[in-house]
Amino acid sequence: MIDYHIHTNLCGHATGEMVDYVKEAIRCELDEIGFSDHLPLVDGKEKNLTMLPDELPNYVSEVMSLRKSFPEIRIKLGIEADYIPGNESYIKELIIRYPFDYVIGSVHYIDKWAFDHPKELSGWDERDVNAVYEKYFELLRKSARTSLFDIIGHCDLVKKFGHRPSTELTKDLIDTAKVFKEYGVALEINTSGLRKPVNEIYPSCEILKLYREYDIPIVFGSDAHTPDDVGRDFDRAVSLARQVAYEEFVTFENREMKHQKLDSIGNSILSL
Ligand code: ZN
Ligand code: ZN
Ligand code: FE
Ligand code: FE
Repeated sequence: MIDYHIHTNLCGHATGEMVDYVKEAIRCELDEIGFSDHLPLVDGKEKNLTMLPDELPNYVSEVMSLRKSFPEIRIKLGIEADYIPGNESYIKELIIRYPFDYVIGSVHYIDKWAFDHPKELSGWDERDVNAVYEKYFELLRKSARTSLFDIIGHCDLVKKFGHRPSTELTKDLIDTAKVFKEYGVALEINTSGLRKPVNEIYPSCEILKLYREYDIPIVFGSDAHTPDDVGRDFDRAVSLARQVAYEEFVTFENREMKHQKLDSIGNSILSL
């Protein structure tokens, strides 16, 4: 089993040393993990959102050294990049400097509003929920079309605080699935939603079912911001994938996708 969404204390809002995340992954009997801390945003550090640009080399070398120290588990070098229209070349320049195995593209902002940040929760009161959902899915499609990302992160994060649209999302979801398919991105089954007010995996069963129809590959991620969250609720993530008839998940190496059978996941994950 893999956990491809793991943060580190470099971003300023996660706790624990990187080595503790690795140890927890080994304890959980994961075969492979990937660190995917927040790629520097221009003003990320001041707001405790991301690491600083000059911390990126340390992050990369720490992953490399953990890889050597713990041969019993495969450790991939990933990163989670905020997608904000206009920051494409900034992301590109940063990511080509390092040997990333994969890049997760995540939409956390709609027009500078961090819709998933607890401090910006009041922004929801000033906006129409249906319009927010529409914009969110439009940004997801845009992020996939940049071809900068291998994996689209938590692809219905907009539901985090429980806001639900009153209109049908079907057309938006189908359009998004088509773009994901066309650009060859994977999506993640991210269990962190279970630890948030919405109390649901990202994405929902309904969305995942649709993406399955379009054959969009999946990875698994806990979005751990503390070592204890590594591999958390993966029994539920796997059963969700099986429920909508996924038979495979994917892994990445040097930004190349490899298919794995979901059957190959041992029962150890069920007893975390
Ligand atoms: Zn974070
Ligand atoms: Zn665990
Ligand atoms: Fe995220
Ligand atoms: Fe994350």
